Formats: sequence, structure tokens, C-alpha cells
Amino acid sequence: MDNKLSFKLVTIAGIDVRLHISVSIIFVLIVIGVGNGVLLEWHPDWGLVARWGTATATAVLFFVSLLMHELSHSIVAQLNNIKVPRITLFLFGGIAEMDREAPTPGVEFMVAGAGPLMSFALSFLFYAIFATLAPPGFGSLAIENQIAAMGSLSAPSTGAYWLASVNFILGVFNLVPGFPLDGGRLFRAFLWWRSNDQVKATRRAADFGRYFGWMLMGLGFYNFVGGDTIGGIWLIFIGWFISRLAAASIPQLLMDRALRGLSVQQLMRNRFETVESDVSVETFVHDYLLRSSQALWPVRCDNQDLGVLSLAGVGDLKDPLQSSGKVRDVMQPLAAAAKLDSSISGKEALQQLSENPEVPLPVVSDGRIIGLVHQGDILRWLSLHISDENQRH
Ligand SMILES: [Zn+2]
Repeated sequence: MDNKLSFKLVTIAGIDVRLHISVSIIFVLIVIGVGNGVLLEWHPDWGLVARWGTATATAVLFFVSLLMHELSHSIVAQLNNIKVPRITLFLFGGIAEMDREAPTPGVEFMVAGAGPLMSFALSFLFYAIFATLAPPGFGSLAIENQIAAMGSLSAPSTGAYWLASVNFILGVFNLVPGFPLDGGRLFRAFLWWRSNDQVKATRRAADFGRYFGWMLMGLGFYNFVGGDTIGGIWLIFIGWFISRLAAASIPQLLMDRALRGLSVQQLMRNRFETVESDVSVETFVHDYLLRSSQALWPVRCDNQDLGVLSLAGVGDLKDPLQSSGKVRDVMQPLAAAAKLDSSISGKEALQQLSENPEVPLPVVSDGRIIGLVHQGDILRWLSLHISDENQRH
């Protein structure tokens, strides 16, 4: 997930909850869909404020429901010692990023099952709210009479009814046994438990995921031709997204297995040169930069790391060769520089490096730079280990 297009909303249980800007599109679509759809149909007598106010509140609670679904995966993962650095809500729902794959089929089963379970629990909760707020006797009406009597419901009760249905659908949709959906993960955990072969299990579950993705795309195309333009395009996109993730699952798994248990400290370069802060920029360019292949330089003074200076940082200066300033005047102070904490995993490091692949990042422990980590180093390391892994299967 591209971090530049998302922002941090809140931290829950040590997990950064981020909103991707694409959420705004789906938020608007849901508000319009609810306001112009069910609310208009059920409550034609409502004024604009009641209709759009209810639609907006319902859409917000829908995203809270999505977040609860992801949080429930994440909390079960964390209870099983899998770190979850962040949850991102985006166009197609939510993603909880985990720093490693589940170690056993049992853990995978619990982590995958927790999300749909939460959606069903929320569906039940919203249904209970709806039933409590609905007029007496409403619950005992037959379903078709309930729909006809929707007009008698208050705004909170109407919203709760919609949220109960949507969370139920979300739970069912996620149980489809195609990887990467939760149901696909449950299916994979089952196959993995039976065969003791995680790669083969993933391949099977991902095949189902690809078929399901194609089916959604086909259905979307059918709807699109049938006149449901937005709904059709939406299904095509979701189907494409699912089939793409399914296809990426094997390389992803091999990568996770290769990086398993590795911390960033095992992947960083711990031999590097530093530059003193009072060296002039001109000297730095001639005597350091041009005589070394090192791309990022820790700047030191009295054995303290003050900041970093990169090749790109010097390139950004207007006239570096004639610049009479000192290195400390043009460096990036360590507090403000992009850096990695020495406690993070190799997988998380790779993720953060991919935001700006050309630039290595300093690895910091207690305010000291203890290494430099390059995306290229990790990829080379991976290409060596993944070919090993492939030969074994
Ligand atoms: Zn889920």
C-alpha cells in the first residue's frame, strides 16, 4: 500500500490505522447509494437533512465495521506473536499488514476466521439495535411485510438495519474459499494442516481465488452491459484485484518464508564510512563521495550521529562544488530523516524501502546509526534464497 497516498488516523493496540485517499471515493459512493437508494425507497417522506444525515452516519459506521473486522484479524495475530504494524482502509476494504506469515495452520485458521466472525457479530449487534428501536411487533412481521413497513422506522433503526445486512453480506463474501479472501486462508490452513505442505496448499487456495476473481469480473461485465454501469465497473475492479493478489500469493509466500525470522540487522551493511560535521561540502564531494560507492553518509560530531547526507541530497544543492558550507549545514538531521528502527523485521524493512527504492535507509538503535540497509541487498539475498526454496518443491 502506497504510504504517500494515505494518512494515519489513529493508533489502536499499537497498530497504525491509516486511511488511503481512495476511501473517499467509496465513501461518497456509499453515501449516494444509501441516500438515493434504500433511504429514498423506504422513507420517501424524509427531508434532505434526515436522508443525507442518516446516509453519512451509516457510511461512517460501515467503515468502523470494516476497521473492526481488520482489528479482529490483527488482535488475534498479535496474540500469536505476529506483529501488525498497520491497517489500511482503502478502495476495496481493509488490509492488515502482518510482519510474517502464520507459523502453523492452526494460527492461520484463527487469524483468518476472526474477521468474518467479527462481521457476523456486528451484524447481530446492529440487528439487535434495529430490533430494539423498531416499533413493537415489527420483528414478528414476515420479511416482505417488514420491507413494506420500513417507513415506520426511525433513522437509527433504519441505519442499523442496513448495517446488519451489509455486515452479514461482508461476512459471507469473505468466506468464499479463494485466497486471498479470509475463506481462502481458512481453506489454505485446512489443506496445509492436512498435507503439511504450505506452498502446495497456497497454490490450491490461490487457484480458487483466481477463478473467483475472474467470475466476479465476468459478472461485472454482464452487469455493465446490462446497464448497471457503476456496479459493473466496481465488480470488475474487485475481481481484478482479487485475481491479482491470488496470482502474487506464491512469490509473496516464498519471500515471506525466505525472510522469516530475519531482522533488519541481519540484512543491513554494518561496515560503512562516516563524515565529520565540520567537513566542507566541497571536500565531502571530492574526498568522500567521488571516492566511494556509499550512497548515504552518516554525519558525526564528537562521535554522535547528527544526521545523514545522501548523494541525492548533494545533487539537490544549487552549486555543490563551490559551496563553501559545511556538511552539517546541508545534512538531514537524524530526527527528521527517514530511518528504520533496529528492532523491525526484514520484511518490514523491505516494505519501507520500496517507497523510495533508490535510497538506502539508516538503521538506528538508541540514537546511533548502526547500519545502512539497501533494497538491492535484500532483493539479491532473496533471489539466492528463493531459488533454493523453489528447488525443494
Ligand atoms: Zn478479513
